[in-house]
Amino acid sequence: MHINDAVFLEDLCPKFRFRQWRKSIHRFTGKSCIYCGNPSESIDHVLPRSQGGLSTTENCVPACLSCNGDKSDENALYWYRRQKFYDPRRAMAIRAWLEGDLRLAIRLLQWANPNFKDTNNNNERKKSNYKAA
Ligand SMILES: [Zn+2]
Repeated sequence: MHINDAVFLEDLCPKFRFRQWRKSIHRFTGKSCIYCGNPSESIDHVLPRSQGGLSTTENCVPACLSCNGDKSDENALYWYRRQKFYDPRRAMAIRAWLEGDLRLAIRLLQWANPNFKDTNNNNERKKSNYKAA
């Protein structure tokens, strides 16, 4: 991972930027939980903040409330391995994400989920069915 590429929220600080950043995280996976594929309603720190995890894109993945709550402060990869919905492709995607290779992560997620919609293309902004929660 290239430490210089990491986006430190503490530097971006203003709430607006924070919200944009959160949105962009969800957009990467088409608003689906990186672990189970359900709609992502939250952002999970892969390495928990209590263990020194930073609020960087590399350490923050879209997750549904169920996964986020169940995982709690555990290491994401260990936790994920025990889940019924464990999928090695998703595990690889999580690892790629942690390494900052979002392109690879998204490809792996697409592979794991044929219904995956890539919302990162240029047409994205033209779709107005985007309602703020
Ligand atoms: Zn989930």
